[in-house]
Amino acid sequence: MDKFDILRKYFGYSGFREGQEPLIDSILRGQDVLGIMPTGAGKSICYQVPALLLPGITLVISPLISLMKDQVQSLNQAGIHAAYINSSLSESQISKALRLASAGQYKIIYVAPERLETYEFLRFAMQSEISMLTVDEAHCISQWGQDFRPSYLKIVQFVRQLGKRPVISAFTATATENVKEDIVCVLGLHSPHVLVTGFDRKNLYFAVETSRRKDDYVLGYINEHDAESGIIYCATRKNVEKVYDRLLTEGVAVTKYHAGLGGEERRKNQEDFIYDKCPVMVATNAFGMGIDKSNVRYVIHYNMPQSLENYYQEAGRAGRDGERAECILLYSPQDVMINRFLLENKELNGDYTPEENAAVAQRDEERLRTMTYYCMTPECLREYILRYFGENGAGVCGNCGNCLREYETSDVTDAAVKIITGIMEVRQRYGVNVVAGMLAGEKRAKLKEYGVSAYDSFGSLEGMQETEIKQVIHQMMVENLLVATGDKYALLRVTDRAEEVLSGKRRVVLKTAKNPSGQKGKSGREKKGSAARKSDILNSRGLELFEQLRELRSRIAREENVPPYIIFTDKTLVDMCVKVPFSRADMMKVSGVGENKFARYGNRFLSAIEEYTGGIREKFYFGD
Ligand code: ADP
Ligand code: ZN
Repeated sequence: MDKFDILRKYFGYSGFREGQEPLIDSILRGQDVLGIMPTGAGKSICYQVPALLLPGITLVISPLISLMKDQVQSLNQAGIHAAYINSSLSESQISKALRLASAGQYKIIYVAPERLETYEFLRFAMQSEISMLTVDEAHCISQWGQDFRPSYLKIVQFVRQLGKRPVISAFTATATENVKEDIVCVLGLHSPHVLVTGFDRKNLYFAVETSRRKDDYVLGYINEHDAESGIIYCATRKNVEKVYDRLLTEGVAVTKYHAGLGGEERRKNQEDFIYDKCPVMVATNAFGMGIDKSNVRYVIHYNMPQSLENYYQEAGRAGRDGERAECILLYSPQDVMINRFLLENKELNGDYTPEENAAVAQRDEERLRTMTYYCMTPECLREYILRYFGENGAGVCGNCGNCLREYETSDVTDAAVKIITGIMEVRQRYGVNVVAGMLAGEKRAKLKEYGVSAYDSFGSLEGMQETEIKQVIHQMMVENLLVATGDKYALLRVTDRAEEVLSGKRRVVLKTAKNPSGQKGKSGREKKGSAARKSDILNSRGLELFEQLRELRSRIAREENVPPYIIFTDKTLVDMCVKVPFSRADMMKVSGVGENKFARYGNRFLSAIEEYTGGIREKFYFGD
């Protein structure tokens, strides 16, 4: 068998995706590799295929237990002998797994990095033939990454203790230069083949909405996307609870996840989501790493995250099956404040010197600013993201909120000058509300109390609404012309850069959507060209068949107690509706149906299709 046979037989795919083949070839030649590919690109295949061709065992180091279980279930479904060893197993289960492993029962074994240090495991590894060591989520080894795990540093020691050095393959979705260097260096890769594929996820639609009523937006969205699976990310536990309660009252099948819940509740909620019992998950960013649910159709950020790295990673959990999915960020200027507060209260890393901690704080601040710009930019959002990750896109993608929305830009430099003057006049002692109220000439009791009407700047922007003034202030904060103090008062301060505005060297421009957000309706953005959902190609009869196959899949999933997408992905079911297989040979041509999957489920799906069609092939899709 060669790599193509393996791909067809076990995974049911007809060809490799970008980057997979070269990495597999290098591994099989005995060269270390580092694969940097975005989520959903298909990193697993890069080590699972060679694992089956190498003589010995492949050890996969993976940071999260949930990920291991999912991967092992998938492999077992495909007919590959794999196991995981981690703290979710009892001592005796671990001993048993190691015994079976020593007896050559498994080709692939997933372990958490902590496991490498245990005597029992080390003894097993030294006595067995380990052909490859795969480090998944390899950015965890880097102190520059967001998820640094000290236990990843143990990997190197472990490798040294093995009699024969296995080939090492490492994979991550984090592309920054620091992280890349760290992985190569800290892991001690030998002249590795480093392969970086494009970071663009064409099937993802990106949009930023500046909706004031986020709860209503979320509810409306979920109602429009009934029966689809999605994640709502919130910045704080409190927001998670609030959004969760609202959705629950409205009858949405929703569950929640944050670090404040007990371990058992978290496990159960996560499982309800993965098994599609509750298709909607409201969570903090504690949720998601290693969640390999392929049919997540949307990721809504209720609050802006702290960095574009975080955002792209979290949003990237949508559409792993390659089908169209949406990533929507609900922005409000307040999010910047929340994040700044969270950053300022972040625990300092005790291992760092004060200088290092200061450098980290500065980097955090920069990341937050880049993230905030993303929410304000009128340019193509995809282009913005790709440029940040060091790639050049096409400039206009045609599949993001900005490419599909018309904007008006207005020059607000005059207002900006008055804002700066006003803040200086009150000697930088007030926050956004007081400053905006003063400039608008409002006569609120609170403002009277502060006595701001005595200043020359009182009413200097009389023609503008208070909210408009606030928009300009926020734009100025984004451009680092103004900053707010980090304490709870958030007093506005003028930065050195503001001088450029006062001296006329710099203009301040505000963009506003022509058609207000949240009311974009169904036209335009949805169902567009190549990015459309696969099931969109089905006609009404086809959709009916698709639903029947989905039901069959749910039934089997319940019987076998595995998540539905582990049996077949939606994409595979759609392909069945297109190809309408009547025989084993037909069925084997469907993408995602390998020999083992056919042996397990093929006949049940064939029967369902035959029953629906009465054995007469019709065309269930549009086009040709
Ligand atoms: P990653 O780990 O890079 O996020 P996965 O390994 O989970 O991505 O793969 C994402 C999805 O793509 C999975 O459903 C996987 O089965 C599918 N996939 C991977 N390689 C191929 C391929 N060559 N052809 C078709 N589908 C593939
Ligand atoms: Zn675009």
